[in-house]
Amino acid sequence: MRLASWAVDDRVGWGPVLDDRVHDVGDRWPSPQQLVAATSDADGRRLVGDVASSTAGTPLDDVVLLPPVPNPTRIICVGVNYAEHAAESDRAAEPPGQPVLFTRFPSSLVGHRQPIVRPAASDAFDYEGELAVVIGRPVRGVAPAHALGAVAGYACLMDGTLRDFQRHTSQFTPGKNFDRSGAWGPWVVTADEVGEPVGLELTTTVDGEVLQHATTSQLIHDVPALVAYCSTFTTLEPGDVISTGTPGGVGYARSPQRFLQPGNVVRVTISRIGTLANTVVAE
Ligand code: MG
Repeated sequence: MRLASWAVDDRVGWGPVLDDRVHDVGDRWPSPQQLVAATSDADGRRLVGDVASSTAGTPLDDVVLLPPVPNPTRIICVGVNYAEHAAESDRAAEPPGQPVLFTRFPSSLVGHRQPIVRPAASDAFDYEGELAVVIGRPVRGVAPAHALGAVAGYACLMDGTLRDFQRHTSQFTPGKNFDRSGAWGPWVVTADEVGEPVGLELTTTVDGEVLQHATTSQLIHDVPALVAYCSTFTTLEPGDVISTGTPGGVGYARSPQRFLQPGNVVRVTISRIGTLANTVVAE
């Protein structure tokens, strides 16, 4: 099941995408977080599907997609989690025994087909295609062996980064949090349809040129390890997002460097999930 949030005619809605129509189930599940939680088991998905099927729906092309959960309580991102990206970054000398984590604000991320913004303050705007994990059940201190039971589904995420601001100090926060500098979506595909999150093929293109290509089997810290580690210090809640890190091929590590320009179209495609596409605009 694909779960989306959207805006249409000054209203927002959320619910399943069935046959290229979005079906609003907000009367029954009053927040996207509650919807995500409801779809965490087979009975819940059946109920959501029944309620959605009883509505007329709106064509997908008539709505503006928002991030699937527009205001998650937590967006936790993982750095240098593919060997090839670790090698091309200045973190190469310190392969992490534990995951490198930072956070993004919801205001830094837009939905599918919404413009992403290269800010006036920097022209070192870089792409990072990633697999995002969406939590479906509250969980604290979960063991890796049980961690996938807390996952509702998966999405594509573009962890857009202002490299100069990322490197002003050892802390990533400014470079990862410019308003509307990243995106996620187009929807959450529930975990039952994705299966084990290994071997998922991830491709990032800019204007059609393939710049990143990897599979999630190459993650240094895999999805169960990441969910378990994060749950040791915070209670993960439905709708929370963990973005698993980007593979090699980012723009700043290329020769010559290749940063995003206004008009570029960035696409992040992950097998069994879909394609997230966003056009770069200048602030
Ligand atoms: Mg990243």
